[in-house]
Parts: sequence; structure tokens; C-alpha cells
Amino acid sequence: MQVDKLMAAVDAEWVAARTRELVEVFSVTMAEAEVCRLYEEMMRDIGLEVDVREVTPGRNNLYARIAGCGDGPALMLNGHLDTIPVGNCPPCYREGDRIYGRGTTDMKGGMAAALAAVKALVDTGVQLQGDLWLTAVVGHEEPEAQKDGPRALIADLNSGRIAADRIVIVEGRDALWVMSMGSMVFTVELTSSAGGKHTQYVPFGDNPIRFVGDLIHRIHQCQVELDAGQVHPLAGPERIDLGIVEAGDYFNRTPLACRLTGTRRWAPGRNAEQVLAELEELARPFAESGELGLRISMEHQREPFETPGEDAAVQAVGRAHAEVCGSAADLVGMRIVGDANLYVHGAGVATFYYGPSNETAHADLEWVEVERLQRAAQVYALAAAEYCG
Ligand SMILES: [Zn+2]
Repeated sequence: MQVDKLMAAVDAEWVAARTRELVEVFSVTMAEAEVCRLYEEMMRDIGLEVDVREVTPGRNNLYARIAGCGDGPALMLNGHLDTIPVGNCPPCYREGDRIYGRGTTDMKGGMAAALAAVKALVDTGVQLQGDLWLTAVVGHEEPEAQKDGPRALIADLNSGRIAADRIVIVEGRDALWVMSMGSMVFTVELTSSAGGKHTQYVPFGDNPIRFVGDLIHRIHQCQVELDAGQVHPLAGPERIDLGIVEAGDYFNRTPLACRLTGTRRWAPGRNAEQVLAELEELARPFAESGELGLRISMEHQREPFETPGEDAAVQAVGRAHAEVCGSAADLVGMRIVGDANLYVHGAGVATFYYGPSNETAHADLEWVEVERLQRAAQVYALAAAEYCG
């Protein structure tokens, strides 16, 4: 029977060996050339034809299509090959069932598992109706890359160089992560004509800095309202947070400008422009009462996404998880954003995450368990067989 055949075709030691090889190659964002070459070679070794898509010299997105023989839907398994800086993480080693090292769980283990899933399908000769795509991108982790790999993949989806009806990002824990809130970094700036004067000539009530206190109080109140309002069933309440408050340059001089910078995370249904307008609405009464100039800006904004739990691909991965792990997969949502936010809005392709594990991502001691890599590979193979038909 196909399920048993596919599960048996995923060899834990094969996935472990590929994971170690990938982890042994240093590949912090912007320095992915060597890991790109290695992963391309691994793709070719299992019999795939690889479309090498240069993002910047040597830094390549890699695409491979396992052609379906009918007109079933196309599924893409996707992930990134770069890592955060190595930091205090020790060089790659294995101890028992665990492989340690930077990039093990985030996310070379997932990339090795996706490769093993494709290998299982190729080796068993299981013929899919729709196309299965295996794609690897560069430029995910560090801000300096500005997500150039994921953005190139979006451009290639939009131009038709590659195609997918659904994307599964093989990252995260072994749960159906189907939703992320939108996110932005916002700055509220208040300026005053009473700024830049000796404080003895400006009544404290007119000092622009005291309106900042009022505004911070209002922002806290806003969070209380969010906690009591419409709470997303998967990701909880929306958030407004502050990280930087800046004002003034001398102890007895009124500030020229006061700035509050923080993050705002919001549920699907509204976009960044609308959320920014709400923030302006929130701050305006304080600006008006103090006759202050008000400027609101945002950066690093990402729109929220949500792929329904009833979606055919989500269901296929969920059933595969139940088959492999013997229990139902959790359906989860997160406040943090990732490449799914980009793919859904940039290319209009419904996306979700399912990975081997995520608990030690970005930790000083990063590791992944071989058994979970094997299970993830089995889940991908079974899910592709069901979804692509
Ligand atoms: Zn990652």
C-alpha cells in the first residue's frame, strides 16, 4: 500500500546525514553561495533537474519540479538555506538522536526532510497528478538581505517561471501554522513650537514632553481594549508595544521633538494603512490639545495572512501528520511574521507552515532530533501524494 511504501522509503539516517552536511557549511545570510551549491548537488543526486535562479552573484534560489502526469493541483515545499550568525552555537555534532549546530532546526533539518520526501516519491515511483515543487531561497534571516530570495521567488511565481496552488514552508514546529498577524514598526513624532526653549520660560503644562506621558498612558489603555476586544482564536489578542521613547537633549531645555517607536501586530481583516490610520486617530487628540505637530510613520510592515483549516492542502498535511504521528496536529496562529505573509500577499498563493521542530531556533544551543526529521519527511511525502493526487 502506498502509505506504507512511502513511509518506509524515508530513511532517518539519510536525512540525518544530509542535515549534518548542510549544517557543516557556514551560511549566514548574504554568504549562502556554498550552501546553495551543496543543496543543488543534493537535489541533482536524487534525480531532480534544478533551475538555478541567481538572486545576487553566487546566491541562488533553487527550484525543482517533479512533474505530475495529470492536472492535479501543484504543491510547493519551500524553505530558506541561510542562517542567523553562528554566535555561541557550537560546531555541528551529533549526540544520540540529536544533531547540534547553527541552522539545524532553523531550518536545514526541514530542507533535508523536504529533500527526503521528494526522494521517497522518486524512489518508490509514486506518480502524482499535479506538480510537486521543491524550492530553496536565500536571504531570509538577516534584515540586510531585505528578503531578496523570497521576493525573487514571488517574482518567479508571478512570471510563471514556477507555479504552485499551495505552498508549505517546511519550517516551524510539527503543527499546522496557518495564520500570522500583520506587523509594523511605527513611530509617532510630536513637535512643538514651545520646543527648544529654557524650561523656565515654558509652563510645564505646555512642555511637549508631558504629552508623551499622556500618550503612553493612552497606548496602555489601547492594549487593555485589545485584550478585551476581538481576540483571534489561534493567535490571541492583537498587540501594541513600545520599545523606544526619545525626547530632549538637555535637562532644562524643552524638547524640539518627542518620538515613540514600537510595534503593532494585528489580526487578518485589516491592512497596514488602516492600522496606521487608527494609530493616528489615537494620537491626534494629544497633539491637538498641546498644539503639537503630529507625524506618524511605519516601516517593516507585513500584512497578516490566514489559510483556513479546511483548506485541502492543510487537511492533507493534517491527515499525513495523524498517520505518521498517531495524533491530530495542532492548528496554530502566531503574532510573528514570516515568508508566508510575503508569499500570500505578493503572489496570491495560499501558504502555511509545517516543520520538524522549532524550539531551539536562534538559541545559543540549537539542535534538531533525527526522529522528528524523519517524521516530517514522511508527512511531506504523504501530504504531497494526497494533495497532488
Ligand atoms: Zn528560519
